[in-house]
Amino acid sequence: MKNIRYELLNRENNVNLPPELGFGQIFTDHVFEMDYSPEQGWHNSVIKPLSQLSVHPAAMFIHYGQAAFEGMKAFKTDNNQVLLFRPERHFIRLNNSAKRLCMPEVDIDFAIHALKELVSIERHWIPTRKGEALYIRPFLFALDTQLGVRPSRTYKFIILLTPVGAYYPEGFKPVKILVQDEYVRTVRKGMGECKTPGNYAASLLAAEIARKEGYTQVLWLDGVEQKYIEEVGTMNIFIHLKDEVVTPKLTGGILHGVTRASVIHLLRDWGLTVNERLISIDELIQQYHNGNVMGVFGTGTAAVISSVGEIKYNNELLKFNDGEPEELAIKLFDEMLNFQYGRIPDRFGWTQQVPIPVSI
Ligand SMILES: *Cc1c(COP(=O)(O)O)cnc(C)c1O
Repeated sequence: MKNIRYELLNRENNVNLPPELGFGQIFTDHVFEMDYSPEQGWHNSVIKPLSQLSVHPAAMFIHYGQAAFEGMKAFKTDNNQVLLFRPERHFIRLNNSAKRLCMPEVDIDFAIHALKELVSIERHWIPTRKGEALYIRPFLFALDTQLGVRPSRTYKFIILLTPVGAYYPEGFKPVKILVQDEYVRTVRKGMGECKTPGNYAASLLAAEIARKEGYTQVLWLDGVEQKYIEEVGTMNIFIHLKDEVVTPKLTGGILHGVTRASVIHLLRDWGLTVNERLISIDELIQQYHNGNVMGVFGTGTAAVISSVGEIKYNNELLKFNDGEPEELAIKLFDEMLNFQYGRIPDRFGWTQQVPIPVSI
């Protein structure tokens, strides 16, 4: 295993977190970094104080978008243990994004080791109030300085940490979603399966339009026909029908959510029928008018489970469960948090403990 160099701040171990954490607004004071070159592979691993990056204006990621990221969380349990939720899944996905974008993969065991070291050093930044967590943002980007489209030879990998508040501080409120058929986010065989900056840049205009109409999120339809439901902003979507729970199957334009996979597993474990299949927007409308839709919810690391109260598509306004969160969504939310905060035995092996020095 490659060695990590430690350049640590000499600081007290208590951290004053502001009462309102928000999401991704404050950062812990160390990062993990390493560099890549074809000659040396990944090297120069270091945990060091957070500082500004100095980047050449010709750095390739700025011009050609060769970059990928992840988003996962660490949780502090009631007895002060620190748990990571399925970190290996996130690094596998980061490597899949890297492959699609012609970037070097990271060694998953080493990345998890480095992450645990960093989180252990930054453990005092993990907030402990209900619903709070440490959000982890590993990312990888191209650094060659040349204006010309080709894969870069050099890269940097960084893990940045940010303490985040409960996603729904006032409780579990259903969100309103606008279906978008004017723009698409990705297309099959494009980069929809990657967490790469361009996909989010492509989503901004539609999200702004939705926001101006009073909607929090956009529901994306497929990039070819704008017929099939794909996903919501930064969440995968589930529809609870009378005799099955359905979620769009992974056709190539959809992000393979770790929360999505976990929720499918949990629902099946509870004995529900879950089908990953194509769902057209017309089918959703039809099922709605037939009274078959019990509820709709989104899944993603940030909010974990997000209840959907309303979907608007052209002149159709679908309202679910009288604008109240549906029972299944609430039950899933509670159970996912039970796993994440280590409140129940982890029968699926989803969490990994971060070793904490005995001195605390
Ligand atoms: C990150 C993300 C998700 C959710 O994935 P999780 O692994 O559950 O956090 C869904 N859709 C998009 C577009 C995303 O970026």
